[in-house]
Parts: sequence; structure tokens; C-alpha cells
Amino acid sequence: MAQAVVPAMQCQVGAVRARPAAAGAAGRVWGVRRSGRGTSGFRVMAVSTETTGVVTRMEQLLNMDTTPFTDKIIAEYIWVGGTGIDLRSKSRTISKPVEDPSELPKWNYDGSSTGQAPGEDSEVILYPQAIFKDPFRGGNNILVMCDTYTPAGEPIPTNKRNRAAQVFSDPKVVSQVPWFGIEQEYTLLQRDVNWPLGWPVGGYPGPQGPYYCAVGSDKSFGRDISDAHYKACLYAGINISGTNGEVMPGQWEYQVGPSVGIEAGDHIWISRYILERITEQAGVVLTLDPKPIQGDWNGAGCHTNYSTKSMREDGGFEVIKKAILNLSLRHDLHISAYGEGNERRLTGLHETASIDNFSWGVANRGCSIRVGRDTEAKGKGYLEDRRPASNMDPYVVTALLAETTILWEPTLEAEVLAAKKLALKV
Ligand code: ADP
Ligand code: MN
Ligand code: MN
Ligand code: MN
Repeated sequence: MAQAVVPAMQCQVGAVRARPAAAGAAGRVWGVRRSGRGTSGFRVMAVSTETTGVVTRMEQLLNMDTTPFTDKIIAEYIWVGGTGIDLRSKSRTISKPVEDPSELPKWNYDGSSTGQAPGEDSEVILYPQAIFKDPFRGGNNILVMCDTYTPAGEPIPTNKRNRAAQVFSDPKVVSQVPWFGIEQEYTLLQRDVNWPLGWPVGGYPGPQGPYYCAVGSDKSFGRDISDAHYKACLYAGINISGTNGEVMPGQWEYQVGPSVGIEAGDHIWISRYILERITEQAGVVLTLDPKPIQGDWNGAGCHTNYSTKSMREDGGFEVIKKAILNLSLRHDLHISAYGEGNERRLTGLHETASIDNFSWGVANRGCSIRVGRDTEAKGKGYLEDRRPASNMDPYVVTALLAETTILWEPTLEAEVLAAKKLALKV
């Protein structure tokens, strides 16, 4: 079933054919006699032109269905590392297939190696929180989104999920059934040179214009990665809703949602993990930097589309306007939580609003918050927060949106002033 792995595998095999040096290792693992070669540990790099049979066997092993032979499954425990944006994972055997994260054991790792704990007290505990089908291993194997705690059970500082789960279990928030549709933009880079895919090394492509949603080998770069990721996400059970090529060549987007509450964060993090794995196989570097190339090139964002139950019901536009008013009063707080380096992206150019000023508008892509034509026409719907950067933490952004618009109330004076400033009647 793990079809998504096949094109990417071929990609890797193709890329390493020129490196036969460690072929002996492959020979050793599969019992193919290759005398006179090195015997260092097993590496995928072992594949060479002379060992096409080995390539096939490698694929056979990677795609092997273990279910007729054992009940045991592999669970890949995944967590957010010490920078708050890096993903880490390790695998363990579980005695039988599981359907709910509560069936899985807690686990631990060396937090001093991820910048999350001091060396003398290095243990960080992983709590399984959400499970997905593993598109790489197939079968009953799973990916497990975890969050991180001290041995005493306190969430560690980089555990943003814990706080978000609190917000999303608040009865007021629960009753508003918050939906999030997140547009994850990302940029693919050529390995070693760290320059976008499809760009001449040391040079630039023609100016932006022909690349957005484009087809053709001179305009679209990395479609196989975007497509492999799309299918792998569907297989995993991620609520992925679409993809498109972006304005800057080598840049792509996918959307996840609408998802309810904490699920939005879990799905985005796992979708990022899958993207890291696919780019790893393809030998391409993924960056979520919000402005990978300075100058007249679009940055990368993570527009967050948001609605509550009352926004989706008749009269919802009034609720949306009140939410916009609240958001305007907490602009600085939101900006500080919307990703590192976002000031390089939110310049007021390239379909962004300036980082210093809050603005909103109907169908206006130069605003902080955009309301769609459809929402205006129907008088209900959702808003799009265009400020979050591609490297934002979806737990932080979704929880803050819910908190500011459902739980937080400004003073009456502040509200009157803000309403005037934004020309909003509420
Ligand atoms: P854009 O026009 O800004 O490029 P996209 O089509 O890329 O927008 O993404 C819009 C996202 O908004 C999708 O993920 C979609 O599922 C989500 N969405 C649609 N309706 C709602 C809603 N009522 N609340 C929250 N998100 C929504
Ligand atoms: Mn979009
Ligand atoms: Mn986009
Ligand atoms: Mn958008």
C-alpha cells in the first residue's frame, strides 16, 4: 500500500548510483557475494549500477507486508525539538496494532541532544497524543505525534501542544467548534548549494509571474515531491485539502483543513514530518524560512483560515467583525507568536501587509486579515489571518486565535477606539 514511497525511492536510487564505494555492505546484508569490498555498516548508499538486483530486494524489504508473519508493528514517535521548529523521531516495536494513542506506552529520549534538557538530568518523556497510518512503512505501522514532559509530569518549555490542548478543552471554546484551514507554504532547495530548486546555481530565474500554479519544465520545479506528499498525507489520514505551485519558483503550498481545535496542529506537524521524510528521500532540502530569498521574490507564509460556530451561522459576519476588532487590539502579541524572521516577509509588498500595522479588508491580499467575497455576500463564513509565517507553530497560532476571539475581552474604551480606527461597527 505504501505507493508513495516508490517514486521517491527511485529518486534516491538514481541519485546514488554513482557511489558504489560501500557496495560490500549491501552484499553482506543480503548475502550477495561481493568479495574485496568494504564491510562497513549497512547503508542505503550501498546501491550501485552492478547491483540492480539489490535495489529490487531493497524495495522488496522496505515494502514488505509483515502482517502475515507477526502481530507486532512499528510506531514512529515524533516530537518537536529544541528550536521549536525541528522535528525528531525514533521508532519502537509495539506488540499489536493500536487504534488509539492511549494504547501506547509513554517513552523517553535524551533531551540534552535536542537542546531540551541539561546533560545531568537529560530525560524527557514522550506522551503519545495522536496516531496516523505510516505511509512509508505501510501495513499497521503508525506515526505517533507526541508532546514532551519532565519526569515529574510538567510540560517542558517547547511543549506548545499542552497549552493549546487546554485552550481547546475550555467549554466556551468547545461549544464554538473552532475550525482551522491552514495553508502551508514551503520552499525546496538544491542540496549542498542551498539555492531553490529549478534556479541556476549562482544565478536567478526570470522574474515572478509565470510560476504560480504553472505547468512545464521551465516553470514548475518539484511537482513529484508535492504530489508524493499529497498522496502520503491522504494515506496517513491527514485532512489535506489541496496543493498548488507558488509565485516564487521552487515554492509550493498545501492546505490542511478545515480541522477542529487541536487536530489542526497535530495534522500540520505530521504533514511537515512527512514532507521532511519525502524530501530526505529525494535528496532535496526543505526550508520553512519565511523569506528564503531576499529581494523581489515572494516569502512563504502559513495563512490561517479560521471560523467559529457563530461565524458560520446566519449573522456570522458581525461575529467576524468583532473577532477582527479583538485581533487588532492584540496585533503585537500575535505577531510575536507567528514565526521567526517574519519581519523579513511582512514588508507590505508581495501580497503581505506591513508587520507594524494591523489592517483588514474584503478580498484584499495586502491586509493582515482578509475576508472572502463569499463570506461578505452570504453574511457568514470565515476570516483568513495572513500574518503567520511558514515556520509558525500551529499549536501556538490556532490556540491564540481561539483565545483572542473566544476567551479574551478588551475593555469597553479600547473597543470603542479600535472600532473607530478600523471603521468597524460592532
Ligand atoms: P487562498 O484563496 O487564500 O489561497 P486556500 O484555498 O489555499 O485559500 O485555503 C483555504 C483554506 O480554508 C482551506 O484549507 C479550506 O479548507 C479552509 N476553509 C474553508 N472554509 C473554512 C471555514 N469556514 N473555516 C476555516 N477554514 C476554512
Ligand atoms: Mn492558498
Ligand atoms: Mn499561497
Ligand atoms: Mn491564503
